[in-house]
Amino acid sequence: TLLFLLVFILLPFSSVIAQNNSAKAQQIESILSKLSIEEKAGQLNLIPIEGEPSEKHLQMIRDGKIGSVIKSNGAAQNLRLQKIAVEESKSGIPILFQEDVIHGYKTIAPIPLAEAASWDLEAIRKSAAVAAREARAAGIQLTYAPMVDVCRDPRWGRIIEAAGEDPYLGSLVAAARVHGFQNSGENENQNILACVKHFAGYGASLAGRDYNIQDVSERELREVYLPPFQAAIDADVASLMCAYTAYDGLPLTASKFLMQDVLRGEMGFKGLTMTDWQTIPNMVKIGVAENDTIATVMSMDAGIDMDMSSEKYVQLIPYLVKTGKITEKQVDDAVRQVLILKQKAGLLDDALALFDEKRQDKELLSEKNFAETKDIALKSMVLLKNKEQILPIKKIVKNIAIVGPFAKVKRDLLGWWACKGNPEDVISIYEGLEKEFGGDVNLTYAKGCEIDSFKMAGAHLIPEAVKVAQEADLVIVVLGEEYWMSGEGGGTASLHLPGLQEQLLAELAKTSKPIVSLIATGRPYVLTQVAENSDAVLQAWMPGTVGGEAVAEVLSGKFNPCGKLPVTFPYHEGQVPIFHSYKKTSHSFNAGPNDDRYSTTYRDVQNAPLYPFGYGLSYTSFDYSAIELSSSEMTQEGSLNASIKITNTGKVAGREIVQLYLRDQFASVIRPMKELKDFALLDLEAGESKTVIFEITSDKLSFIGRDYKTTVEAGEFTLFIGPNSSDLKETSFHLK
Ligand code: BGC
Repeated sequence: TLLFLLVFILLPFSSVIAQNNSAKAQQIESILSKLSIEEKAGQLNLIPIEGEPSEKHLQMIRDGKIGSVIKSNGAAQNLRLQKIAVEESKSGIPILFQEDVIHGYKTIAPIPLAEAASWDLEAIRKSAAVAAREARAAGIQLTYAPMVDVCRDPRWGRIIEAAGEDPYLGSLVAAARVHGFQNSGENENQNILACVKHFAGYGASLAGRDYNIQDVSERELREVYLPPFQAAIDADVASLMCAYTAYDGLPLTASKFLMQDVLRGEMGFKGLTMTDWQTIPNMVKIGVAENDTIATVMSMDAGIDMDMSSEKYVQLIPYLVKTGKITEKQVDDAVRQVLILKQKAGLLDDALALFDEKRQDKELLSEKNFAETKDIALKSMVLLKNKEQILPIKKIVKNIAIVGPFAKVKRDLLGWWACKGNPEDVISIYEGLEKEFGGDVNLTYAKGCEIDSFKMAGAHLIPEAVKVAQEADLVIVVLGEEYWMSGEGGGTASLHLPGLQEQLLAELAKTSKPIVSLIATGRPYVLTQVAENSDAVLQAWMPGTVGGEAVAEVLSGKFNPCGKLPVTFPYHEGQVPIFHSYKKTSHSFNAGPNDDRYSTTYRDVQNAPLYPFGYGLSYTSFDYSAIELSSSEMTQEGSLNASIKITNTGKVAGREIVQLYLRDQFASVIRPMKELKDFALLDLEAGESKTVIFEITSDKLSFIGRDYKTTVEAGEFTLFIGPNSSDLKETSFHLK
């Protein structure tokens, strides 16, 4: 009866959904059937309109030749362009406004890499939702995010946009961001469509040089680079951008193998695909297409729906269809994708109602947005060193010297892709400290050296800084990099803090005053000397609009830091690429007593990184019991539980990120030494204990087999649990 009742109740709903879907499909077919081939090509054209639109652009909109716009400026401007599209073009199809809303629109959150350090998927989702609400209020319907490229080389500046080195964590973060952008608003008009990028393998750009070739194997692509895309697809991401780079000798923009067979065939992606900036004509530059016409055919044949910024589709598609080089069906399939996005964004209902300047004013930089952004900023801070519990700063400290070229900066705290973020809205670290400590503590300041990109400027400022330090009880040194040193195109060969910063710190250390170093960077730097010369080190990243407050609240102890590194911090830049889930080699297990990880040996430096993946300290301490397994064996259909008791053994409440890693002892292909497979966020009061129970199911034991298909093989597994990838309890079990 129950089943009968359920069917009875649900049947009418499913038929309503089916009717809705068919009405939606009909709307699209009806629009499509009325379009000329020129108008269809126009729908596939995405171009930048910056500042005041030119007469040429306005005319193109009237002629139906611009389907989407990037870089337009706010609700009023977008409404103005939209009115022309809706009221003056023949088809009346609205424009889809798109933007790089990567970590905030106006209220800027910490850079994405920093957010990943929180491991807090709910906070990450909320941060994306803040970005979505603001962007949507400003008349944008699609963002080119999340960027889910796994990155294992901090020289690559775009590591700031990534979730770090790990495919598992990266996948969860990817899904959280897609949900944040696409489904978190109280109503549809607070969401934006997401565009996952850059498909695929861009993070492997050789030697960290942006746009460089990458030559990953199909195995590495499938094991490391594709999983976060799959997670975004499973989270129903609306669109996808292909990478600038190539795979197996062909630019992604022309790779039928990846864009069709893998993406649509295997991974089940049903949304819109777009090029990256100019990647169609780039194929002529690269020398795989003799001219733009051939490049355009290659891109259409690979099934790329939308052309970003090159205008090749709009210029050439009518000719290509007329001459039979591509079919009108190919064009229709692409246009359908564009119209589906416009429909999803609500543009096909009443497009002009979506643009509202008053709403924009209310939404941007709202108190709620500040609060949610601050929450993730706090959770993204990673305490790397804290000798003799020097942090949080004790009440007896009465004179604090704030030193360093990044103490008073604002723009740099926003990081790359700051969208419409305004430096004037930023709380600098100095201002944050002043607010948090100013009443009771005497704060002094010295810049210490210049920020002059990579030049060694400002040596004359060091003595003054030393003097200020000598007169203080504690020195806070704010070191970092300018926002443009990382981000797109921001490759660095050196991973030492730029300019004279390390030298400044070494001079300050000679004063023997307690030193707290704050690192405001977009990538892992080699902090070996910094750690030697500091009593405490806090990786503060580029913490965003309210980041200065967040940093100060961590230093005062109002917030107990809980972030853990989503990427390995090298001991020496020559170790790069260095990451925790490296594969087993003949020498992985015998590299020396204190150096038993990271495989074969260097003669000059240690093998281990300075700080491993998953590492981060707290103001309290956590004790891990032994691991208990519910059984020492499991079947492929079954599962087993691994439990561990964690106790907060310190004096304050804190959060521990408990990490679970697995090693497959024997398999038909070489497997990693260990892989992150689960984690739990545990909030514990002082003295409190909680038991975490991880469920191991066979999907956690699966891998890409010799035939490139996901497979599970019976055998022995080692299971590790601990506070980071290098400090682990272990046990083992058997999969039947
Ligand atoms: C970047 C993309 C970005 C696009 C639009 C390109 O250069 O690679 O990530 O979304 O520009 O700004």
